[in-house]
Parts: sequence; structure tokens; C-alpha cells
Amino acid sequence: MKNAILTLAVVIAMTTLANAQQKGDPKETELWTPVPVKVDPGNAQKAPSDAIVLFDGTNLDKWISPKTGGAAPWVVENGAFTVKPGTGDIRTKEKFADCQLHIEWRTPAGIKGEGQDRGNSGIFFMEQYELQVLDNYTNKTYVNGQAGSIYKQAIPLVNACRPEGEWQTYDVIFTAPRFNADGSLASPARITVLQNNVLVQNNFTLKGKTEYIGQPTYTAHGPLGIQLQDHGHKVSYRNIWIRNL
Ligand code: MG
Repeated sequence: MKNAILTLAVVIAMTTLANAQQKGDPKETELWTPVPVKVDPGNAQKAPSDAIVLFDGTNLDKWISPKTGGAAPWVVENGAFTVKPGTGDIRTKEKFADCQLHIEWRTPAGIKGEGQDRGNSGIFFMEQYELQVLDNYTNKTYVNGQAGSIYKQAIPLVNACRPEGEWQTYDVIFTAPRFNADGSLASPARITVLQNNVLVQNNFTLKGKTEYIGQPTYTAHGPLGIQLQDHGHKVSYRNIWIRNL
């Protein structure tokens, strides 16, 4: 009986407390504007309705060769395009800063070589910050240079690679660096990367421009292109779209 009274007292006390917390108008914390713009999210084959399609499977009209200033010379075939070794990188005509990028890539089936010499390419944000593309399903290399790494800066959180010859996806949120009027760094670039839907970079703060040798540093710049690397290997790409943020 004593226990029952005690239990009842506790229940009454808790109910009173809950009621006290619910006092006030819930509308005070509701926001009704600004209303988010409606976007058709698309699907695995179709880009979101507000995205800029950078490659739709048919041509490289959105890309140029920085080397020649002319048309991008890589090979378009079967809804994808492939690096033409020796022709150099290709770059978007349009310039970007903060963005969301979706890109699919594939290292060649029957690939030879090891370490960095195995299906190497890369995606350069703002023409200088490289997200590595490499076959690392079983291929060993320095870990800040494997697929999913921010080259020579950030090791991927996990190895989410698929085998050579299979299509893989990167979904990237990139925040551009900001610079002061005097050219000094106001805020560094940041990047989040999902490889094959698995988080491999979580809001990593970049140390500067990608460097093969030595420490990275920043040099002030405005919006620049997305650039794909010709590292001499026949890596393919398809279904590329970008959203300005
Ligand atoms: Mg590379």
C-alpha cells in the first residue's frame, strides 16, 4: 500500500512537471519562410532538376582542353568518356565555387601496374584541390594517396572501393576557400565525400592546393573549373552533374 501511494505521488509529480514544460505557444518556434525551392531529386540516372549536367553521355561540349584551349580530346563511347593518355587534363568551361558534385568513374578492367601507377586519375575542385581516383580495391599505396583521399592531405575514413572495371560513385560537398582583400586566407576549403554511398571524407579542412612534393599552401583565387586528370591511364567517367550551393 505504501509503495502504491509512493508510485502515485511520483506519477503526479512527473505529470505536473511535463505540463509545466508544455506551457507557452508552440507556434513561437515554428518558421514558415523562406520556403525551400522545390527540386525534382531525379534518380540514379537522372540529375536533380536544379543541377548543371556536365556530361549526359553524349558529348564533351561542357569541357575544354586547358593545354590547347580547344575541345576536350578524350574519347566518348557508350555513354561514358575515357582519358586519352597524353592529351592532358580536361576542364569545365564553367567556373564553380561552393558546390555539390556527383561523378561516376571506372578504372579499366584487366588493369596492369601497382601503387600510383594503376588506374590513376583525379578530380580537381577549383582546378587545384584533388580528390584522388585510383584502383585501390587491393592495390597498396601511401594511404593519403589512395582512392577517396584528398591527395597528400587526407586519408579516407574507410576503403569503400569496388574492383577494377566496375563503376564507382563520388558524391561531394565542396566549400570553396575565402580570401581577404589583401589575398590572405579568410577561411580554408572544406570537403565531404561519399564513395559508393559510404562516407570517406567528413568535412575535411584542406591545407591548400594539392602538391606532389612539399607542403600545401593557399594562393588567393576566385571561382574556377572542375578539372579531370590525365595521369596516363584509361580511366572512364559518366553521369556528371553539379549543383551550385
Ligand atoms: Mg591522381
